[in-house]
Amino acid sequence: MPYTRRMSGDRRVVAIINQKGGVGKTTTTANLGAALARAGIRTCLIDLDPQAHLSLHFGVTTSGDSTTVYDVLLDPTGDTVEAAMVEVEPGLFLIPAETDLAAAETDLASLPDRQNRLTTALAAAAGRWDAVLIDCPPSLGILTINALSAADEVFVPMQAHFLALQGVGKLLETVGLVCSSVNPALRVSGIVLCMHETQTTLAREVVEDLETFLEGCRSQDVPWQHCRMLAPPIRRNIKLAESPSFGQSIFMYDPTCRGASDYTALAESVAAMWRSPATEVEVKVDASATEGAEPIG
Ligand code: ADP
Ligand code: MG
Repeated sequence: MPYTRRMSGDRRVVAIINQKGGVGKTTTTANLGAALARAGIRTCLIDLDPQAHLSLHFGVTTSGDSTTVYDVLLDPTGDTVEAAMVEVEPGLFLIPAETDLAAAETDLASLPDRQNRLTTALAAAAGRWDAVLIDCPPSLGILTINALSAADEVFVPMQAHFLALQGVGKLLETVGLVCSSVNPALRVSGIVLCMHETQTTLAREVVEDLETFLEGCRSQDVPWQHCRMLAPPIRRNIKLAESPSFGQSIFMYDPTCRGASDYTALAESVAAMWRSPATEVEVKVDASATEGAEPIG
């Protein structure tokens, strides 16, 4: 029963990772988080990427005096978490980053417990949120290790491209190594297909290959044993690329677009997965239900 492990209350802490850039990590953190908050799930987003794209997505710019995730890592107390968090939409909180986060790699290196600073901070803020989503940088440094040690589970956003399966295989191996060293309870629970092209043969074949691969893992004692393709895939939708320029989630920017309906449906299946043990719910990608992705470009 992977979803009844180490948790404070019923809070879910999810690390959103992929070592590739541009696959939809930040877009998924922002809009899945916004959709969960709209469903009444108290949600906190953590921007752990020094590029600070998640913060910019919500129009949060920080100055030298602002309290950010960098301060949270250096001083992981409830007070610092309270000082850093910003309510960006009703019920949706953000702990922002600024580019000084890049220095955290070296600043943390000499500190005791450097891999568990975020875990300590989230423990100090236990009970405040029902879900925490962490937007990770596309590298496996101390920041991502903090995310993986604080998390209960991992979601992997990806595009159904050539060599996608190879990339996922590598990523899972890496997570496996981190699990065995810093967080044995961590589970990879879902793959989110982003910028999905429902009509292309290549995308369909890649999805089939991924499903076959995941089915093959069901009998193995690995952290991704119960990983599933989360439904629905997120179709390519230009509104999702536009909304960050306005500092808004897709629901504030255009609640009627396909990007908004896809992320709403994704939040529903994530919430359903959290309510049920992984082995009892099989969420299948139904390509016919999501026809009509916009063409590339
Ligand atoms: P990452 O965080 O993995 O680097 P992003 O979430 O920033 O990836 O996405 C990369 C780019 O693709 C961004 O410009 C984003 O706005 C755009 N994008 C993400 N998802 C979609 C989508 N479903 N449809 C269209 N554009 C998207
Ligand atoms: Mg990003």
